[in-house]
Amino acid sequence: MNPTISLCMIAKNEEKFLPDCLNSVKDLVDEIIIVDTGSTDRTVEIAKSFGAKVFHVHWDNDFSKPRNKSLEQATKDWILFLDLDEIIAKEDFEKIKSAIKTKNSAYSMKTRNYIHEKKPFLQSFSSDDIYSDYNKGMRFFWYSTKVRLFPNNKKIKFVGVVHEMVEKSLKKEGFQIKPLDVPIHHYNQLDKEKSREKRFFYLNISKKKLECEPKNPKAYLELGREYFSCKMHHRAIFIYKRGLIFCKERADDDLKSFLLCELGLAYKGLKKYLEAKKYLYESLKIKPGMKKSLEGLNSIPKEKIGVLILCYHDVSESKIDWCITIQNFEKQILTLIKNGYEFVTLDYFISKKQYFSKKLITLTFDDGRKSVYTEAFPLLKKLGIKATAFITTDWIEGKNISQKEQYSDFMNWDEIKELSKNGWVVGSHGKTHKDLRFVDEKTLKEELEESKKVLEKNLGKKVLHFAYPYGSHNPKIQKEALKNYETLSTILSGFANKKNSLNRTIITKNSSITILDNQANNKNYNS
Ligand SMILES: [Zn+2]
Repeated sequence: MNPTISLCMIAKNEEKFLPDCLNSVKDLVDEIIIVDTGSTDRTVEIAKSFGAKVFHVHWDNDFSKPRNKSLEQATKDWILFLDLDEIIAKEDFEKIKSAIKTKNSAYSMKTRNYIHEKKPFLQSFSSDDIYSDYNKGMRFFWYSTKVRLFPNNKKIKFVGVVHEMVEKSLKKEGFQIKPLDVPIHHYNQLDKEKSREKRFFYLNISKKKLECEPKNPKAYLELGREYFSCKMHHRAIFIYKRGLIFCKERADDDLKSFLLCELGLAYKGLKKYLEAKKYLYESLKIKPGMKKSLEGLNSIPKEKIGVLILCYHDVSESKIDWCITIQNFEKQILTLIKNGYEFVTLDYFISKKQYFSKKLITLTFDDGRKSVYTEAFPLLKKLGIKATAFITTDWIEGKNISQKEQYSDFMNWDEIKELSKNGWVVGSHGKTHKDLRFVDEKTLKEELEESKKVLEKNLGKKVLHFAYPYGSHNPKIQKEALKNYETLSTILSGFANKKNSLNRTIITKNSSITILDNQANNKNYNS
């Protein structure tokens, strides 16, 4: 004869979910036992209409009590326990029926807890999921696991006032716990208000438990988690820290790692990311690879510091410090690509979609030297990268060049136009490359306005970016420059995030992109 199953449940005001639940399993089980803890809605009536045996227990802030009452009343060979907002798919009945042919085993099953909102690290429901019909429109879920199916043996009891389980009792009686590949579909989230109510309800029970066991770190962990899920992060932190005090050296290492992890997550909830990282790392020290901690760390938003702007001058073999060879230039760009940078032009700073959380980099070339066109441009074009060229307009085609600048040639208009046509941003680097701190007001205006005017006329585009020659500026120059330009580039190193004073890092012969990248990683993108 085939083994039989008692479905054991406890209920309080579950009329909304009860019919779905009982309909899903009525053909699987041979008996339905429901222990009611004081329903005031139609729960009992509906249960009876399914032929359930209904018992009543006075609610006493202890989930194990009614659960054990249901076990006492069960008369069949096996116990299956479900909550009223859970169902089992019909497709899985055969698996369950064949599992219960094995004696002396108990089965743990995964619960798919469905949820509406997308949150990091939730699994998402794919359309080819064999349980597609069971998600009730909720696309995301997370798994939890516990024993759901076990032989009807009167020595097996639920233990724990909130997170009641039979695991301990089963082990004590020598039953082997095996996983059974049948998911329980859980819809707690369908009724949000209800679930909030439930949370506060759990919170009160957890408080009660802690009163009974004030030196048990696990009680602190549970209470802290209830505070956390009510978004009472400060309370959660206080409770977790108390719990850590009661952790015994080594013996409680597992609990300690959980407490540290949850502590980190509570700080994360408060957006206190430094503390969050500290505790998450500490939990990983005790339990390397702990998934929840790793996920917590990964979900901490990266600090918003800014864009790394590199300032190049010349790509050539010249011995001058401002020149780097094409080989080195290529190596640097490939390193940046490999390290995950996204290349943007200076127009990024005047776009609406600014975010500094990614690894962003901007390449700029000052003065308008010919190698920018002959060396850098072809390489960057091949790699799909657009850069920014700052042109000193009187120097175009190599006119009016002082002796000390004659180590290289300069671009002509056709070349500058071609850069512009290919998506490069062309900005002004002054008319004559004068140090603007040492010119009179009229010259200052000329340097700023005329270079802009001539560039706009030749390129047929607005020129919105200016780089101070020699990086020299003061508040007066800045104020005047802002009348003509939207961004102003300096040569102060650091990350750029203010468009009226963009920091840039000068790259010379001996600059190391690897060092620069490491700095960026440490400052900006600390794991
Ligand atoms: Zn310059």
